[in-house]
Amino acid sequence: MKKEDVISLDHGSGGRASHELITRVFLPGFDNALLDSLEDSTVFEVGDHRMAFSTDSYTVDPIFFPGGDIGCLAVHGTVNDIAMRGAEPLYLSVGFIIEEGFPMADLERILKSMKEAADTAGVQIITGDTKVVNRGSVDKIFINTSGIGIIKNKSDIAGKNARVGDSVLVSGTMGDHGVAVLSMREGLSFKAPIQSDSAPLNGLVADMMAASDMIHAMRDPTRGGLATTLNEIALQSDVGIELVEDQIPLREGVEGACELLGLDPLYLANEGKLIAFVDPADAQKVLETMKKNPYGRESVVIGTVVAENQGKVFMKTGIGGTRILDMLTGEQLPRIC
Ligand code: MG
Repeated sequence: MKKEDVISLDHGSGGRASHELITRVFLPGFDNALLDSLEDSTVFEVGDHRMAFSTDSYTVDPIFFPGGDIGCLAVHGTVNDIAMRGAEPLYLSVGFIIEEGFPMADLERILKSMKEAADTAGVQIITGDTKVVNRGSVDKIFINTSGIGIIKNKSDIAGKNARVGDSVLVSGTMGDHGVAVLSMREGLSFKAPIQSDSAPLNGLVADMMAASDMIHAMRDPTRGGLATTLNEIALQSDVGIELVEDQIPLREGVEGACELLGLDPLYLANEGKLIAFVDPADAQKVLETMKKNPYGRESVVIGTVVAENQGKVFMKTGIGGTRILDMLTGEQLPRIC
């Protein structure tokens, strides 16, 4: 079989190859307008209510890492994908695929972490499934979560709705989760160990929406990182995005680890950060609101939406040049989430 006839790790990267797999195979395969929206969660109507629905699977290796574990990650990831549409997450399902021989104590630790994460986010896990497979058929444990939420106002927050002139805000430092998982996996130790940023963002989103009804788009930059997520929005909204490199917040330890490992923090996964596209008239107000929330203390404006260079992301570099930021190509870090 030729290379293009089989699935490669690249197809799971969240970058360009994932995007192509989705548009070439999955969308025509299921063929419906709701799926075609390609949002973090799909918004649909039930009677007079607008609901958001999302699903995600978690295969992170190692399953326990600084700042979190596969359990809290599985709750936060789905809660956040629902929140990115301006919806209030309500209920989750959870599906486990567990390898024969997996320690019961580890499972209990993961469940406790999921329960705590769900309680903090204000959601309940109300249905689930468990499969156990032969040793070697999966690596330890994989978890799927799906979630449902409700949109309680008239907002239409979507990746296709960024507008020329919008300010681009991020809620904190980039790349923390990617570096936390990778350094654990590679057995690297740093003076100040980097913690994953795994966190529920629905409270932050609620605060932001209470402050402004001019938030046009939001997305959490998970796999593929900030650069890939911004490319998705540039394409979906048919706009250009201009960033200022010096404004992008990075922890010192993340910068150092990335230099050491030859990684670009703008392509590393985050699990507790969001990007928001806000009308310039409200950007400052939203920024101040974000800074008051524990998960948004380090929020900053990192760029602007422009009419030129539609579908592309540019960055003014610290040394005065301009760099084009493409989608992630190639698999930087498999099993990061
Ligand atoms: Mg997302």
